[in-house]
Amino acid sequence: NKSIIFKAVPDGYPVAGEHMELVTKEIDIENFSLADGDILVKNHYMSLDPYMRGKMRHSYVKYFTPAYEIGQVLDGLGTAIVVKSNNKKYQVGDYYIGLIGWEEYSHIPANVVSASFEILAKAISKSKVPESYFLGLLGMPGMSDYVVLNKIGQPKKGETIFITAASGAVGQVVGQIAKIKGLRVIGSAGDYSKIKYLEELKFDEAFNYKTCNTDEKLKELCPNGIDIYFDNVGGEILDIVLNHLNNFARVVACGMISQYNTNDHYGVKNIFQVIKKCLLIQGFIVTDHLQEIESFQKEKGECKLKYKEDIVEGIQNAPQAFVNIFTGKNFGKLIVKIC
Ligand code: NDP
Repeated sequence: NKSIIFKAVPDGYPVAGEHMELVTKEIDIENFSLADGDILVKNHYMSLDPYMRGKMRHSYVKYFTPAYEIGQVLDGLGTAIVVKSNNKKYQVGDYYIGLIGWEEYSHIPANVVSASFEILAKAISKSKVPESYFLGLLGMPGMSDYVVLNKIGQPKKGETIFITAASGAVGQVVGQIAKIKGLRVIGSAGDYSKIKYLEELKFDEAFNYKTCNTDEKLKELCPNGIDIYFDNVGGEILDIVLNHLNNFARVVACGMISQYNTNDHYGVKNIFQVIKKCLLIQGFIVTDHLQEIESFQKEKGECKLKYKEDIVEGIQNAPQAFVNIFTGKNFGKLIVKIC
């Protein structure tokens, strides 16, 4: 059983091998012993997400997720098949979606099984879409935009929305939904091929924030200002956008990836705009909205959205793939295909 363990807390950007390490252990499936309620699963697809960087910290640092412990197998959401079960809810051969290790086989204890997404797991077997979509378009990133674009963004036809990291797992869906809702959609991303993809998705305008001046571009592309900012990056770009927002604009604070690898966080200078323009800035944690998962599934299943995935093969390649999120080398929802 190949696994990736958490080796050391990174100070800055994580490095494959230095902070995450591949280990291999024999696993005897036939004689594997399971306590009451436990299951053993063979992992198929695993989601790699920016939030995992926040778990790679010292446990004394408080945050909204528990810290990974040194030596533990890293974990995240994944899809799998049950190969052994001591749980009435799961039979051998059933799909499982929930917390798994970054490994080929995972022993899932009863308490983790009870927090798994049975509704989603049942939907996989009936679904015509790829299994991996249940970790992206039909999973947590997809849910992020579904839940909050409406709740926090309060979009109205004809308004202008600006989305950063727009070709990513979350951003690409936000943009398409915003188009369906009749908004003018502007996106930024950090690579030429990503900008081309945003054009394919019918974004009204897209620009490369690494080669353009964001302030100048927003002046040019949003002469009437921005009504909704879907913020995936935080930092200096958030600061610039504050100056381009209209009165009563909404900022959906989804993520601040530009700040995840530093303790010297960017100090936003234009915060006074919040008062001057009566802005609403609101964050959210997608897992607080799981009660909406059924209606989300139904509505998303009926949509005809495009979805780009970046699928990396082999658990041994997970550490480098994870590191790549923070330099923008991933293009689309980052997934590891384990088997
Ligand atoms: P993506 O698939 O968009 O991958 C991350 C992308 O962020 C990279 O490809 C890169 O794209 C961009 N990026 C990386 N570093 C920087 C930087 N320093 N400055 C600007 N852009 C950068 O990830 P997700 O769609 O999964 O996540 C997007 C954001 O949403 C993250 O901040 C994440 O933490 C957050 N999130 C929040 C959730 C919640 O519950 N609140 C749930 C899910 C995600 P590029 O080439 O364009 O630079």
